[in-house]
Amino acid sequence: MSFAEHANTLFRHWRPPRGGREAMRRFQARKLRSIVAHCREHVAVYRDHWRGAAIAPSSIGVPEAIRSLPPIAKDDLRARPLRDTLADGVDPATLVRHDTSGSSGQPFAIHRSLLEEHVLQLFRLRALADAGMRWTDRVVRFRQLPAGGARATWPGRLRRALGIHPDADVDGLAGASEMLDALARQRPGVVAAYPSTLRYVAERALRDHVSMPRPRFVMSGGEVLDASARRTISDAFGAPIVDVYGAHEFNLIAWECPNGHGYHVCDDNVLVEVLDDDDRPVEVGGAGHVVATALHSYTMPFVRYRTGDRAVRGPDACPCGQPYSTLLAIEGRATDVLRLPGGRFVHPYRITGALADHDADWIGQHRLVQVATDHVVLEIAARRTPGPGDLERLRAEGAQALGAGVRFDLALVDGFARGPGRKFRPYVGMGERAAAE
Ligand SMILES: [Zn+2]
Repeated sequence: MSFAEHANTLFRHWRPPRGGREAMRRFQARKLRSIVAHCREHVAVYRDHWRGAAIAPSSIGVPEAIRSLPPIAKDDLRARPLRDTLADGVDPATLVRHDTSGSSGQPFAIHRSLLEEHVLQLFRLRALADAGMRWTDRVVRFRQLPAGGARATWPGRLRRALGIHPDADVDGLAGASEMLDALARQRPGVVAAYPSTLRYVAERALRDHVSMPRPRFVMSGGEVLDASARRTISDAFGAPIVDVYGAHEFNLIAWECPNGHGYHVCDDNVLVEVLDDDDRPVEVGGAGHVVATALHSYTMPFVRYRTGDRAVRGPDACPCGQPYSTLLAIEGRATDVLRLPGGRFVHPYRITGALADHDADWIGQHRLVQVATDHVVLEIAARRTPGPGDLERLRAEGAQALGAGVRFDLALVDGFARGPGRKFRPYVGMGERAAAE
């Protein structure tokens, strides 16, 4: 990727792209021609994976044209030596490396050039600006700090020196009172963390009546944000929440539409498809697998890559008028599926998402535990003592979602052992119980 190409991309970030939906699609098609030609010529894993697929890069006139390429999975990449997944001749020592463990627990490292890394970071900044962040707002992130500290790169140092988007990383492994102290000290314009970390801090603040510095908004990401978490966090911080959907492979994939129409897909960063089990696009309103193509990653390309996430497809143009396509909901990991008797399966979101929407006022945090194929327990840490009517309704709704032949129980718990700064999994499958504690 040439510097001019990157510069063009950088330039696009400082304002939402102009020219509407059609211009966006033309941009995508142009990037796809470039990335597919690059992979064909310079990336061994795609040369092999696409053998036999009839597609001439120059013939890609619309984004949908890449459907004739087979999707690729993380395992396909992991099965090859690193050099086969990188552009020919790239020296890994010169690259930015992101190590991920993933929900499967299997390590996978993503590599990008420094320039690519910054381009992707800018999409995130644009989304934050779209949500109302100003240049001088301090962003406080709760996260697991890397051992030995984070290495600041020169654009980051320059940005800090100029006072543009000053930021601070706070240890997400700390206790609630330390995190509240850090918030009071930092006076953030924006607070960013996993929903479970935000909820943990929020619950403590509400319980102890801690007065919090009011940020412009709170950014959640990395886990499914349900209605009860949204409410708790928003109550405690006195600020709206903007949920973002990202992945290490792509950085920003989507962020919440400021006008409440679900999520804007970051179409000029990533081409997102929502596919059924047979890799056909689902209808608008349908749920499916997220398959994504990175439009700016030439070092380690991801083309029609199975993210392992599920989402609900939204309209191809956001009703708010911005030129982005949409997702209506992010459902989380596709592997988190309840397998029920008779080969049926239900995504936990179908149960917990709906329940939390109705019962957000009294359900604090919840977790769905599949004890056996025909036995599912919903564990609830309650915000107040539920009335008999609350429990009855919940039981009936859960039983209905699971269908006949499945026992559904409710269990009120004091709280959940928290892996601070790590992801909270709202679903525990059979045999995973011990591992999750
Ligand atoms: Zn919108």
